[in-house]
Amino acid sequence: MESGQWTEDIKKALENNDQALAVKRVQEYLDKENNTPINIAVTGESGSGKSTFVNAFRGINNEDEGAAPTGCVETTTEVTPYLHPNYPNVKLWDLPGIGTPNFSADNYLELVGFERFDFFIIISATRFRENDVKLAQEIQGMKKKFYFVRSKIDSDLRNEEISQRDFNAERTLQQIRDNCIQGLQRQGVESPQVFLVSSFHLHLYDFTLLGDTFEGELPAHKKHALLLAMPNISQDVIDKKKKAFQSKIKYYATLSAGVAAAPVPGLSAAVDVGVLVSVVTQYVNGFGLDKPSLQRLADSTHVPYDELIAIIVSPLAAVKITPGLVLKVLLGCAGTAALMAAEEGSRFIPILGILAAMSLSFTFTYRALSYFLDTLAEDAQRVFKKALGLDTSV
Ligand code: GDP
Repeated sequence: MESGQWTEDIKKALENNDQALAVKRVQEYLDKENNTPINIAVTGESGSGKSTFVNAFRGINNEDEGAAPTGCVETTTEVTPYLHPNYPNVKLWDLPGIGTPNFSADNYLELVGFERFDFFIIISATRFRENDVKLAQEIQGMKKKFYFVRSKIDSDLRNEEISQRDFNAERTLQQIRDNCIQGLQRQGVESPQVFLVSSFHLHLYDFTLLGDTFEGELPAHKKHALLLAMPNISQDVIDKKKKAFQSKIKYYATLSAGVAAAPVPGLSAAVDVGVLVSVVTQYVNGFGLDKPSLQRLADSTHVPYDELIAIIVSPLAAVKITPGLVLKVLLGCAGTAALMAAEEGSRFIPILGILAAMSLSFTFTYRALSYFLDTLAEDAQRVFKKALGLDTSV
């Protein structure tokens, strides 16, 4: 449905004095916006690190409930989707290796149902083999994108460090990259790009570049959905999420102003708060500041949960977001309380009052959301630094 139609529906619900329906419609709109499906296929030989990559991308430890099973024996024997915990519309599919029993190399893509995937990640813990290349060529033939990921880079670096007297990390990384690229070229892949990744340390090496590359090649609506689900592994990712959220605030504020124009006294604030609760929940989830995400982060980084919580300033993180809580935070924030009172008061003056209510409601929603976004983004940066041990002063 077009955004104009949604606004009409919301207004109609308000005119019929159906406040609950209006809030529901607003929520439906917000949900739809964030439900763009993304399907990422992860394939490669058994033991190459597919399941560990899928888990790391979702911010889940290999031992956690809902983790893709990992281990040294063949663990992936079926095409299995793993949902992102905060964005179930983003699915990572752990595919059986090409050429494993039941998944012959000849019709592998048909067997795994290639149509549903937005792109493929081909993982290898060593050089890329004939089957990897064959698969890449077939994916290309199907007009889909693929990315080569060379996994377990941490382990290569560690081995080199032990065995080489004049060990140099940069040089080793370059050698691994060159070996992979030359190997692929020898097998007929033109100008291959290979991303060096450690699923145990996504913030190091090429994972950030891989994320930027996905983003650059996806259509706009998918780009937004994938960005929100990306793990918060750099300041840059958090900044990008903030900008993406920021760009929508004007729209929510306009929606709120549209609702305020309905001549039903007393309803605007209820709807506004309904919008605020939904949007703030998105911010908290996107920044990984909800309780389960913080718990998972604590588990994987071994930074105690309480220490992460201790550096968070906003009272909206790690709790259930309710209208009462949102109002309480707003009332504690100078300026907004007066604005809210003015908005409801002006509604009783016809025409002029409605116009005033519209602009006040726009300003109110705009300011409130900007305030929430700023404080939560700052918290996300603090948590990120603390989790990675970049800032030990707090
Ligand atoms: P799959 O069979 O392709 O799904 O591979 P798994 O994800 O089960 O990984 C096989 C083994 O490699 C497991 O013991 C993982 O712990 C290990 N592994 C996976 N990724 C990494 C990584 O980035 N670094 C290191 N050091 N080990 C990894």
